[in-house]
Amino acid sequence: MSSIQKRITPTLVLVLISLTAFAEKKENIKKDIVGKDHIVLSEKDDASDYLILNNDTTSYYFEILNDFDDELPEEHPAHDIYNNIWADDRLNPYQTPYNQIQDSIYIDCSEFTLPVPGEVTSDFGRRRYRFHYGVDLRLKTGDNVLSAFSGKVRIIAYERRGYGHYVVIRHNNGLETVYGHLSKVLVKHDQVISAGDIIGLGGSTGRSTAPHLHFEMRYLGNAINPADVINFQNGGGLYNELYLITQEETFAYQQKVQQQLNSRQYYSVRKGDTLGRIASRNGTSVNNLCRLNNISSKSILSLGQRLRVK
Ligand SMILES: [Zn+2]
Repeated sequence: MSSIQKRITPTLVLVLISLTAFAEKKENIKKDIVGKDHIVLSEKDDASDYLILNNDTTSYYFEILNDFDDELPEEHPAHDIYNNIWADDRLNPYQTPYNQIQDSIYIDCSEFTLPVPGEVTSDFGRRRYRFHYGVDLRLKTGDNVLSAFSGKVRIIAYERRGYGHYVVIRHNNGLETVYGHLSKVLVKHDQVISAGDIIGLGGSTGRSTAPHLHFEMRYLGNAINPADVINFQNGGGLYNELYLITQEETFAYQQKVQQQLNSRQYYSVRKGDTLGRIASRNGTSVNNLCRLNNISSKSILSLGQRLRVK
């Protein structure tokens, strides 16, 4: 053994011993967290190095100051359903088609609060050129918009051509809800909220012609018709405190979505084409082409560009 090796070996042994001791200490802390009101650490452990607890230890709310938080109880609502995905930028990052969702799941809706009291001005379902994945509820700009259930804010974002200012909340019952076209957002990303909390003010931002709330309910990224859960015709209460998600009924609309996708038609721009010429050749109008392709009537076309015509 060289002299360098002789010096390194004892150091390695020491490092290994202290790592083992640290792992044991972690184990003790974890055991203490579960099933006790308070965490008691022995005097030689300086608690402030490990955990900050608020008074409510029953909800396991705590912050970890070092690097073993991946081993601790769930941080986000329903994270086992959502495979631990907590993206703050995409509404549906889960890539789980409706027919891969476990069939017949009961959702506890008992704490439900109607987000706004207004009537439905537009139903869930097929539009001429797209699909409407929520319901629109009438409101006045500045009206309070309330969270439907308790949970945690996953997305706060702005889409000029879509939802405008919007909020997405993951709920403790496994659902996610979307609140679109807000004039002002009053919650922060990752904020924990209760059913009925004000999350923002209604408005008409984004793709909207009059003030309303665009409200969606989703499970693992797949939209559920809120009118299946909420009795909008009769005061906006629930049909049932337990809502049963089934592939056959809840997601029956997906077949219509598929038909709509299959009926799309495209056209490749040729030399000398104008929007007017393409419209008349395909039995549509310039307005429709612009809407379908999200372009303006003055957009410059390039050869070979693919335009949706139906
Ligand atoms: Zn809408």
